[in-house]
Amino acid sequence: MRIVRYSHDETIRYGIIDEKEVVELAGDPLFAGFDTTGKRIPVGEITLLAPSIPRSKIVCIGKNYRDHAAEMGGEAPTEPLLFLKPNTAVIGPNDAIVRPPQSERTDFEGELAVVIGRVAKNVPAESALDYVFGYTIGNDVTARDLQRSDGQWARAKGFDTFCPLGPAIETEFDLTGGARVVTRVNGEVRQDGPISDMVHSVPEIIAYASAAFTLLPGDVILTGTPAGIGAFDAGDVIEVEISGLGILRNPARNA
Ligand code: MG
Repeated sequence: MRIVRYSHDETIRYGIIDEKEVVELAGDPLFAGFDTTGKRIPVGEITLLAPSIPRSKIVCIGKNYRDHAAEMGGEAPTEPLLFLKPNTAVIGPNDAIVRPPQSERTDFEGELAVVIGRVAKNVPAESALDYVFGYTIGNDVTARDLQRSDGQWARAKGFDTFCPLGPAIETEFDLTGGARVVTRVNGEVRQDGPISDMVHSVPEIIAYASAAFTLLPGDVILTGTPAGIGAFDAGDVIEVEISGLGILRNPARNA
């Protein structure tokens, strides 16, 4: 099932989408289930929005692919390296990523995103996937120069618009199905890595993070980026594609 959040006729709703139409849901599926209103809307009439606006946090994992850790000049950490993005960084498909004037180098990082569906605290890895609502695509946009100069990552990773999410939440995504994270800038492939190359798996990440802080429904986990990260400029179009999840496309502009 593909769940989208969208605007139509000046209202924001959730729906179940296929190639042709959206079936409108009565409420937020994370909290109210999948009851439909019966209304069907052609896909061409809706505007897609970020499929989840986390109530509390976006949990991110740094250096979770060995080839990316190597390109950053180090090794992958033996335990997941956690950091947070504020929920104010979230934008949806086709929204502009705004390059802030404080940074001279703004990078894309295509990533698999996990949407949490149940309150999770001290969850063992063996049952961690029971707490997942579904999967979408994220772009962990980073002001690379500020990441280095600030000494920690809150500002460099947390600017408004630095967390594109979408286009939909797939509830039946197969983590072992050979999916790849492919990032293109203006159509040119810059990242292409299999999610099976993750150092710490999705269940391990949920177990590790939930041992530190409670994960809430709607929270999003960005699971790390493969090699090939790089800068983009105003006017560029960044696409992150994961087979089975679609394409997250965002243009970039300067503030
Ligand atoms: Mg990242």
